[in-house]
Amino acid sequence: LAIFPDRTNSRGLNMNIEGIRVPFFKALDKLAGKSWQGGPIVGGKTLTTGTANAVLSPQNNGHQVGQVHFADKATVELAVGKAQAAFGGWRNTPVDVRAQALEKLADLLEEHQDEFISLCTREAGKLLQDGIDEVREAVDFCRYYANEARVLMEPKKLPGYTGELNLLFAQGRGPFVCISPWNFPLAIFLGQISAALATGNTVLAKPAEQTSLIAHLAVTLAHKAGIPADVLQLLPGDGATVGATLTADPRIAGVCFTGSTDTAMLINQTLAKRKGAIIPLIAETGGQNAMIVDSTALPEQVVRDVVRAAFQSAGQRCSALRVLYLQDDIAERVLGILKGAMNELSVADPALWSTDVGPVIDQDAQSGLEAHLSRMQAEGKNIIAQTSLGKGCDQGFYIQPTALEIGAIGELEKEQFGPILHVVRFKAKDIDQVIKDINNTGYGLTLGIHSRNESFAEYVAQSIDAGNAYINRDQIGAMVGVQPFGGQGLSGTGPKAGGPHYLTRFITEKTITNNT
Ligand code: GLU
Repeated sequence: LAIFPDRTNSRGLNMNIEGIRVPFFKALDKLAGKSWQGGPIVGGKTLTTGTANAVLSPQNNGHQVGQVHFADKATVELAVGKAQAAFGGWRNTPVDVRAQALEKLADLLEEHQDEFISLCTREAGKLLQDGIDEVREAVDFCRYYANEARVLMEPKKLPGYTGELNLLFAQGRGPFVCISPWNFPLAIFLGQISAALATGNTVLAKPAEQTSLIAHLAVTLAHKAGIPADVLQLLPGDGATVGATLTADPRIAGVCFTGSTDTAMLINQTLAKRKGAIIPLIAETGGQNAMIVDSTALPEQVVRDVVRAAFQSAGQRCSALRVLYLQDDIAERVLGILKGAMNELSVADPALWSTDVGPVIDQDAQSGLEAHLSRMQAEGKNIIAQTSLGKGCDQGFYIQPTALEIGAIGELEKEQFGPILHVVRFKAKDIDQVIKDINNTGYGLTLGIHSRNESFAEYVAQSIDAGNAYINRDQIGAMVGVQPFGGQGLSGTGPKAGGPHYLTRFITEKTITNNT
């Protein structure tokens, strides 16, 4: 029986096909020396006022990718005014017109994917495969929310007394602030924006300062796709200026944020203190993600999934595996294979197809992770395996992929956003304590389970507070419309990105009762 879904996810690039691979690498070669320019896009124009900042590659600090101008306070305030003025027109634009513009944007992203992949590698230090996946996910978000909005924004007829017509309308809320992270500089950036736009909000987009150039190209294409100039404006800059000014502004109608838990709390406080309406905050934040492996698991599969979940994207995903719990009678076998696998990892320039682990985003990230490793060593923790750095890594911000042993998850103060895996051994009789310890962190993002005992896997999946639990596979790479993504507790407010309830937080509702 064939099932034909009415929506399919984007396929990305199949690099096994020579006809795709060869032109792709040619295009990347051409783009490797391009100098990109970025800045605030307000009222449809790129502003070149304000401080100009050189954008340097995380993998090679001598390599300048381009230059970006940051927005100042006055620019931010000007943009909010324009977003407010444009709101009425955009809210009343038929949902199908808004959705079609997002679908057009998805097509343009695919047309320009070489540029995005090149920029993802050069500006964000992402692996080529991660860049390919990044474009794929951005395309998926645009198409998915376009479709979802068509359903959600359709007026709904409700029952009522004879002669009375009751209609429920969904409408945009107003100027929405979208604050996005550098680790998914295109996918999450456009995921937030497309959700807000599809539902009839105007958008003030503040990308992570580290990845302003990618954001600039994306907004340029969005305008080309038919999103009006004042409906989507770009405000690159630092959090203390741009983020703080935006979130304190009484004219904004909602905030969508992905980033650290600490910043989400700060935004929450700012929103609570500011004058103006009570508005939604949609926050997707950090995690302290665990994987639990019992003695019935297949060690080779476990290692394959651990390596991917802990070290892909240099561990810089909020879904990444941080703490691996191994039942003691399988631990030695798993760790033996893990050591071998970590020895084989290539830590090198992300522009090389053979690279498995690239750099971390910047100097602060590198120093923070190094400090954590020194602390762990000072506490006498056993280093299980550590991959050596390859050629050229001294030019950039690299961290050696490391697996080390700790006693319990509670020893870790906070999320370590990089390629560091903590391993804990546990006895089968202590599983309920393990579950308690993991829940006690207060986070609840992803969970991995490896077991061939279905009732055990089911029990663990049900007992641990996690937004996304994965059984017998890795715990990263949630797909739009397939694994709606997002956490609970300290990991976020919900609703889940790429899921059927996401758009509901971007709207306000109106009931019109007409006694005809
Ligand atoms: N959705 C991504 C994944 O499943 C993670 C998103 C993030 O790091 O914020 O790997």
